[in-house]
Amino acid sequence: MNVCDTIYRKRRGERLSTDEIRCIVSRYTAGAIPDYQMSAFLMAVVLRGMDAAETAALTQAMTESGDVIDLSDIPGVKVDKHSTGGVGDGISLVLAPLAASAGVVVPMMSGRGLAHTGGTLDKLESIPGFRTDLNVDEYRGLLRRIGVAMVGQTDRVAPADKKIYALRDVTATVDSLPLISASIMCKKLAEGCDALVLDVKTGSGAFMQTLDEARALATAMVGIGSSCGKKIIALITNMNQPLGNAVGNALEIAQAIEVLKGGGPSDFIELTLELGVRMLLLGGIEKDKDRARARLVRCINSGSALAKFAQLIEGQGGDPRVIDRPDVVLPRAPEETMVISAQAGYVAAIDTRAVGMAAVMLGAGRATKDDRLDYGAGIIIRKKLGDRVESNEPLATLRHGARPGAAEARDRVLGAYRICENKLSLPPLVYEEIVV
Ligand code: URA
Repeated sequence: MNVCDTIYRKRRGERLSTDEIRCIVSRYTAGAIPDYQMSAFLMAVVLRGMDAAETAALTQAMTESGDVIDLSDIPGVKVDKHSTGGVGDGISLVLAPLAASAGVVVPMMSGRGLAHTGGTLDKLESIPGFRTDLNVDEYRGLLRRIGVAMVGQTDRVAPADKKIYALRDVTATVDSLPLISASIMCKKLAEGCDALVLDVKTGSGAFMQTLDEARALATAMVGIGSSCGKKIIALITNMNQPLGNAVGNALEIAQAIEVLKGGGPSDFIELTLELGVRMLLLGGIEKDKDRARARLVRCINSGSALAKFAQLIEGQGGDPRVIDRPDVVLPRAPEETMVISAQAGYVAAIDTRAVGMAAVMLGAGRATKDDRLDYGAGIIIRKKLGDRVESNEPLATLRHGARPGAAEARDRVLGAYRICENKLSLPPLVYEEIVV
């Protein structure tokens, strides 16, 4: 296969064969195709798309780039959850230990920050010592022992996604239905889960900005999963404002601990429970939504979900003192910049992508593949949609080190807020549920 020819054909909108797709994925994974050619190929896919057969072939090629883990000898239904990416979306940090404490086995293979969105692996790695690069034996051992593991792609499992994901992050090639579907579903097919709950985001902070686009993405992933024998549900959820109050790695860990202790922001808690209910139903732990929700609430109130998070942190090498003293153990960026409203009124809209990009500028995400993260950097959201704001009141607080982008990040966050005289009605948190 000539790589240039494949890029050229996709650039012209032609349909690629399964062999061509397999070849470009396996050769890139093996290091035989350079980043610049793969970037051109990915951009051609973003611009020209792929049909269902090409998307299925891409998913399969990426899954088969490494080992497919068989967890059938571990008792229990293995249920994972994955989000298509959002701002302040630290739900997995709470949901994985919560669902595990309720009796589901949770093999969770996540990603890093992608474009303006945060990544579960980066957030977990802000806990000193926490390892997300477990080998397969360690991963299986943890699932058997405590019922939950949170890992990333490795050179053995979904290695194609590991490389392609890092490249997409810094080449503006993320927001593409086939690329997102294949990236998410190859991890899910490789990690060994039996069932999956997808959180497909839509809105200003999502890769799929409209409900129609999100529905198409959800339908594609549900189709791929069910054709591979997975039980699968997708919720289409609102990403028109950051979830919760924290954007940034250590800030989101601290918020997750607060939620597991029974506190935390209401939108974050509500979406965690909505997704958790589906995990318990798919895992056969409960038969109806009310009982599933009640069980999850009990697990938080009794402290068992928090205890499970502590076990997980310890099991993956992290400093378990973070549970009691997040303020001491987690990194904290030294400087604070307030984002102050010049106007009084009600928050009518937040350009959530702009908030995510501001967090990247502060060091919470990467602008190039080799960037080092500032785990303590991020944004504390002080005003959410529908909130009353007075003039000179803070909308958000930026946490950062001494870096030139801080003033620009402040302006971006300020520009992201639209304040109106009258309070508008709030959009729903969950729009739709898609099941086969
Ligand atoms: N999550 C992933 O794992 N991949 C994507 O492309 C987007 C979100």
